[in-house]
Amino acid sequence: MTWCSRRALLRGAALAPLAAAATDEVPSQAERYFANHGTYGHRTLSYDLHLAYDPVVGTLDGRAHIRATADRTLPQVELDLARLAVYDARIDGTAVRPRRRRNKVVLPAPRPIGAGTPFSVEIGYGGRPGPLRTAFGQIGWDRTGDPHGGTLVASQPLGAPTWFPCNDRPDDKAEFTIRVTVPRGHQVLANGTLLGHSAAESTECWTYHHPGPMAPYLASLYTGRFAYDTWEAEDTATGRRIAGRNAFPARLSGQARHDLARQPAMLSAFTGLFGPYPFETYGAVVVDADLDQPVENQTVSVFGRNHVDGRRTWETLVAHELVHQWYGNSVSLRDWRDIWLNEGFATYGEWLWSEHIGEDSADTIAREAWRTLAKEAQNLRIADPGPHRIFDDRVYNRGACALHALRLTLGDERFFAMLRGWHHAHRGASAETAAFIAHAGRSRPTETEPLLRAWLYDKRLPPLPQPSGNAQT
Ligand SMILES: [Zn+2]
Repeated sequence: MTWCSRRALLRGAALAPLAAAATDEVPSQAERYFANHGTYGHRTLSYDLHLAYDPVVGTLDGRAHIRATADRTLPQVELDLARLAVYDARIDGTAVRPRRRRNKVVLPAPRPIGAGTPFSVEIGYGGRPGPLRTAFGQIGWDRTGDPHGGTLVASQPLGAPTWFPCNDRPDDKAEFTIRVTVPRGHQVLANGTLLGHSAAESTECWTYHHPGPMAPYLASLYTGRFAYDTWEAEDTATGRRIAGRNAFPARLSGQARHDLARQPAMLSAFTGLFGPYPFETYGAVVVDADLDQPVENQTVSVFGRNHVDGRRTWETLVAHELVHQWYGNSVSLRDWRDIWLNEGFATYGEWLWSEHIGEDSADTIAREAWRTLAKEAQNLRIADPGPHRIFDDRVYNRGACALHALRLTLGDERFFAMLRGWHHAHRGASAETAAFIAHAGRSRPTETEPLLRAWLYDKRLPPLPQPSGNAQT
């Protein structure tokens, strides 16, 4: 089975239009790229998901307990949920009658919920989950090729509602507890750490907890039969030991172990460059499916079986997904238009890893990337690429070149202090491009602001500065 690719589709097939019309009364909602996902009506504090999954018939039975705070007076609570039926719902313990509106669940409040008031929602739901068809391919919940029945979740950017009701905004981040019951012999992996595991006569129950905060699109769940490796890495910024765990199909153990072996060294190197590792754990899951791209699910990135070959052919992607834990997951996007803050940073992290292990320097790779970009159409503002182009390769490579141009302008010491300061200032929160330009310009605004504006907002490709400060010709 092949997991459909978001980026392959972007390059190839004609794009189906994404619904971008605003459905919320809040004016800023209209500015968002995917305004029909999420609401500004509330902010989520926690998701507590109790799920029972039958991998043989592919049915999911779920109960979601959500705690949230109203951002304005709410006559009703809106959540995103796709393809699954809602059986019952309660707000603050009172039964309410849910209404469906396309991929929304609307719960009328027994009485209006005042702005700033905390409230709870409980929803019973279920059905046969499956991926959402979008312009980015099929995303969200999907089945793997595990002959015993296996699943994965890769939701970026809009797939989270395929398996739980949520406020599907990249900047609505919450604590997660994920408890899953599966038939005996099946294993479950999810974000964070394993809190408990118990077995009954015919079932097993696995409970994971992640304090996050985490955006819904980074929540993940994998079921199947896995072999495990545990590892430990030193966080060089704090001296803390970070416990890691990788999982992979047993038949791929040899190549997976080899290709993921340098993650502890990567984590140590990146803590030196970016500052303290933001979460309690990390790991990679290799699923029994071909994926077009790995995905940086929080604390537990997912790779396809096609990404391990025993020769570290895709090690650059192992580095990329780890860098996202700082830039993308810990510091999240205010909105998808700022995607270069995720992808430019993670791509630059690939180049830094190459430099760290004595292969091509970031400068060599940046100049090669610049030459490629110069040959491509210059019709994209990478800080506002348009909703259909958030995963365009130019967002990745020009975003990384923008950071390299900034490094050449500031010098290594100032540049890496600025990167660490960016994570420190926005850790666990969300940010946007304007804030980054202001942050990067603290020491030399007259140089960095025009430089970044040209790289991020002009369509024409700017020259890449030379290490001496002379522009490339
Ligand atoms: Zn990425």
